Amino acid sequence: MGKITHIVVIPSAGYSHFVPVIHFSKRLVELHPEIHVTCIIPILGSLPSAAKPILQTLPQNINTVFLPPVNPNDLPQGVPVVVQIQLAMAHSMPSIHHTLKSITSKTPYVAMVVDSFAMHALDFAHEFNMLSYVYFPISATTLSMHLNLPLLDEETSCEYRYLPEAIKLPGCVPFHGRDLYAQAQDRTSQLYQMSLKRYKRCWFVNGIFINSFLALETGPIRALRDEDRGYPAVYPVGPLVQSGDDDAKGLLECVTWLEKQQDGSVLYVSFGSGGTLSQEQMNELACGLELSNHKFLWVVRAPNNAKADAAYLGAQKCVDPLQFLPCEFLERTKEKGMVVPSWAPQVQILSHSSVGGFLTHCGWNSTLESVLHGVPLITWPLYAEQRMNAVVLCEDLKVGLRPRVGENGLVERKEIADVVKRLMEGREGGEMRKRMKKLEVAAVNALKEDGSSTKTLSELALMWKNVA
Ligand code: UDP
Repeated sequence: MGKITHIVVIPSAGYSHFVPVIHFSKRLVELHPEIHVTCIIPILGSLPSAAKPILQTLPQNINTVFLPPVNPNDLPQGVPVVVQIQLAMAHSMPSIHHTLKSITSKTPYVAMVVDSFAMHALDFAHEFNMLSYVYFPISATTLSMHLNLPLLDEETSCEYRYLPEAIKLPGCVPFHGRDLYAQAQDRTSQLYQMSLKRYKRCWFVNGIFINSFLALETGPIRALRDEDRGYPAVYPVGPLVQSGDDDAKGLLECVTWLEKQQDGSVLYVSFGSGGTLSQEQMNELACGLELSNHKFLWVVRAPNNAKADAAYLGAQKCVDPLQFLPCEFLERTKEKGMVVPSWAPQVQILSHSSVGGFLTHCGWNSTLESVLHGVPLITWPLYAEQRMNAVVLCEDLKVGLRPRVGENGLVERKEIADVVKRLMEGREGGEMRKRMKKLEVAAVNALKEDGSSTKTLSELALMWKNVA
């Protein structure tokens, strides 16, 4: 092997900001073994337990450096989780700087790739003579929104949800202001101000990686890569998601259950690593699933009436979520459904032939995992950019059904039963399944040796090698 090219990668604390960057690193060194990654890992409280199996299977050319954990008690309480993660990252900056100083004193590093919440660290890239990149585990549509938000902010005086016209971004499906990501729903909030600052910073990096691929988001990606628009360089390198091998062992009871079900007969229901419902909404969902009379595999989480992302940092570990299900629900549905408390091996589930639909909160990782396994969706966005993802899935790609939220703010049981039936047995569902199968093929192709995402990553790797 020729000369080694060294790069630094910095994820953020919190499962969903840690895992994608690790997958990016794995993909990079797998395709380009002459690149060596040093991964500097910040920790808020403790490392998410689901992250541990992933770290145990890292290849030799990814080194890890664990930073001293930030104590959650040193951070303001009661702020949104994403604010907490960003503040934790700000706390980690001195130790990141210290680590960078130490490693670059021995070896020259060409580039720094950071998670979007670790963007402060890019201020050190210049000091240590590195090119600067952000890895956003998001869609091209969401990145387009990020890059255009500073301008929209200047041009708009009201909250975006009151805009009379749909928001139209180059190449993207138009969406209503109320479907804009959660961080832009209250422009007076600290979260909005922090986000805006980050998105403005994006314009000054050497490049931005996104977890999407040309065939999935052709319009938005072409617009982002159109040189006339003056965006920073954008590299779609996805779909990069976890493989079933990363899933913790010992959680396989549900897979055994799936083995006994008919092909395409089971609806998988899960709200990502953090999604929670209110008690009332949980009751409606339970009754809706029962009413649909379809088989289901539901990852049940304890309800939270205040916050949809209440479990994001694994705060709910001690509570048994099954106690919040309606009385005798488990008994009544024991032939129809399987419930798994809090966490399930999602990729293994989605790759199982018994699974025919996925009721999802539309986190981008879950979305891509479903695409990669050709499973059509019921979209139930909760927080972050999930509403935007739901619009892309339902209105642009037409691979998902979005249940109506009633005037009382709840998706009611009848509506749930209806969409489950439409997806699992109707012609409409069949069409969506076909479209999803096409996207599955396109996703697999994007990652082949001559696939669009592979080629994009290789162009960049070659450039880094030439700089080194
Ligand atoms: N996940 C899982 N089991 C669960 C819930 C989530 O393996 O019970 C994984 C899922 O496969 C995905 C990630 O956690 O890779 C969730 O990421 P996503 O972007 O969908 O949502 P977020 O957690 O960021 O809201």
